[in-house]
Amino acid sequence: MIDSVRLEDLPCPLGCRENDKMIMSGSDLLHGLPGEFTIVKCCTCGLMRTNPRPTPEGIGVYYPDDYGPYVGTLVPQSTQNQSSIIKKLLKRVVRQIFKFNTNTLPQLSSGRLLEVGCASGIFLHQMVGQGWQVEGVEFSAKAAMSAAELGYRVHAGPLETAPEPSEPFDLIVGWMVLEHLHDPINCLKKLREWAKPDAWLVLSVPNSGSFDFRLFKEKLYSLHLPNHLYHFTPQTIEKVLEASGWTLSKVHHQRVLSNIIASTGYVLHDKGFTNLGKRMIEFPAHAGKWHFVLYPLSWLLSAFGQTGRMTIWARKRI
Ligand SMILES: [Zn+2]
Repeated sequence: MIDSVRLEDLPCPLGCRENDKMIMSGSDLLHGLPGEFTIVKCCTCGLMRTNPRPTPEGIGVYYPDDYGPYVGTLVPQSTQNQSSIIKKLLKRVVRQIFKFNTNTLPQLSSGRLLEVGCASGIFLHQMVGQGWQVEGVEFSAKAAMSAAELGYRVHAGPLETAPEPSEPFDLIVGWMVLEHLHDPINCLKKLREWAKPDAWLVLSVPNSGSFDFRLFKEKLYSLHLPNHLYHFTPQTIEKVLEASGWTLSKVHHQRVLSNIIASTGYVLHDKGFTNLGKRMIEFPAHAGKWHFVLYPLSWLLSAFGQTGRMTIWARKRI
């Protein structure tokens, strides 16, 4: 354990009486930082969480400046001002046909958008290109500065300290962010206050209800200890949304195999296949055309809700 990191031990955030069962232990595979962490499951509601966990004040150690999402969401200089219209159209068509993954959104005319965990701002930048007025919240000061340099209003710091917006939002998104929050219920309640009555909330999270969670256990790529404080399934995320004033409307199982391939990479790396393992671990960042090659299998697993990531759509409960 890193000496400066204090741990806290908290009960199930859904208010269940203490009834936890240990599921597994693991360490930080992404950066190899010290510490052994445990995942427990509340036997009353089924919600899994990392417990004990680093405190909000201490967890920053596990988010170095080269943390993948901060770097991977930088907007390349060449596309900050203009990007080829043909390239943009092609991307949109490909996304429509294959519906791979991340940014599955309801059909909406543009309006006001908030991205929680906007990292270096690439999604905000894309949405401005589609006519949206955008704002962001980002925990990392360095990543927030990159997003703000694009000209967008970004609160640098945790969502808990973000000031109320001047006007409510039509769409609030958070890509792979809810599982990182210490207090997801109060954060979702806060977002509800900031949403218009007919607003949409769109979140992506790892799906801990899929077979790879049980298969790979502590070698699961998306386990991401200790950064991931909650490990949601479609059933438990619905309960968390309900408790926060939102109603789950739809679950999309993303058509990607990144989680399975990178997790296999960790297993092979451990068994001595160092180079092959390393290449497989890096697959999520460099998948490119492999998404197309693997599409039939990812489509099939997605149809059965068995890929490692899901995107959920929710409406504000009035
Ligand atoms: Zn519970």
